[in-house]
Amino acid sequence: PLDKEELGRASWGLLHTMAAKFPEKPSKTEQKNMTNFFHLFSKFYPCDYCAEDFRKELQSDPPQTSSQEALSQWLCRIHNRVNNKLGKDEFDCSKVNERWRDGWLD
Ligand code: FAD
Repeated sequence: PLDKEELGRASWGLLHTMAAKFPEKPSKTEQKNMTNFFHLFSKFYPCDYCAEDFRKELQSDPPQTSSQEALSQWLCRIHNRVNNKLGKDEFDCSKVNERWRDGWLD
């Protein structure tokens, strides 16, 4: 199985890439579906206490699905809260599209 770090890296990669590809002008259905996706994801994320904290985050700061920019910034913020919790550096959210949409590899 994936360990918690590998799972986390792979998952953030998927989530940030989904946000990067989200429409600039999503339909109401796309907005609702993306919100549902995050709620379902948080119920099945295969690290129980990570998932539990993530569900609390979704309650206090719900997914912002009005645009690609809004969703990417929201996810960056959420990821930074996990970074804080784990004592990792904060990511500069002004660089999120550079990192996940337009490309730089690390
Ligand atoms: P990661 O945090 O995995 O980040 C991968 C890459 O994303 C980084 O190299 C950087 O380029 C980029 N990045 C970093 N921050 C941001 C940001 N804010 N916005 C955009 N891009 C960014 N682990 C635990 O030990 N406890 C937990 O409670 C926990 N909860 C998690 C909850 C979720 C929903 C997810 C997906 C993961 C969780 N993890 C948790 C795993 C943890 O967040 C990391 O993925 C793991 O520790 C590996 O960290 P990393 O240093 O390789 O970088």
